[in-house]
Amino acid sequence: MVKLYELPELPYSYDALEPHISKEQLQIHHDKHHQAYVDAANGILKMMAEARDKGTDFDIKAKAKELSFNVSGHQLHKLFWNNMGPASEYGGEPTGKIAEYIDKTFGSFERFKKEFSQTAITTEGSGWAVLVMCKNTDRLFILQYEKHNVNLVPRWTPLLVLDVWEHAYYLDYKNVRPDFVEAFWNIINWDEVNKRLEGWLNCKI
Ligand code: MN
Repeated sequence: MVKLYELPELPYSYDALEPHISKEQLQIHHDKHHQAYVDAANGILKMMAEARDKGTDFDIKAKAKELSFNVSGHQLHKLFWNNMGPASEYGGEPTGKIAEYIDKTFGSFERFKKEFSQTAITTEGSGWAVLVMCKNTDRLFILQYEKHNVNLVPRWTPLLVLDVWEHAYYLDYKNVRPDFVEAFWNIINWDEVNKRLEGWLNCKI
């Protein structure tokens, strides 16, 4: 029996991020789109296990690519749900270690906000804005993932991610992605970002 991926429950209710992300938008994003990546990844795992049992072949090159896409989609959505929270409790400027790194790298939170927003807004087609930290140079980087798995840096743990696929915002914001990106700043869970940064700094491999 193959161990499979599972769709996690959201850490808040479907309407918890309103008015920035509507209940309908969040529900379809989580229940339909995230679920689809989980199902697709599991389908490949099951197919591979079956082929190995039977000794039959499969298209290794195609499946490696599909697996990367779908598992990356699953992982990024898990990070995304957890780095957001209700605007009544979260949002605003960060505190703690991430705030220190933002000041050190970008000079100010405002400058960081501008660069991260521009990264999200200028992503061509479907992708993500992703904050990471380089331990070799002791600074933050903002990456622009294409799809879920292109233009990332191996081993660099995402600290903060923003999904700018149209499926993330189209019901609420139609084609106006910049308004969705601006709304995101109200619902960032900086506690979670700090937790990831601590984990990354303590990671020895
Ligand atoms: Mn998405």
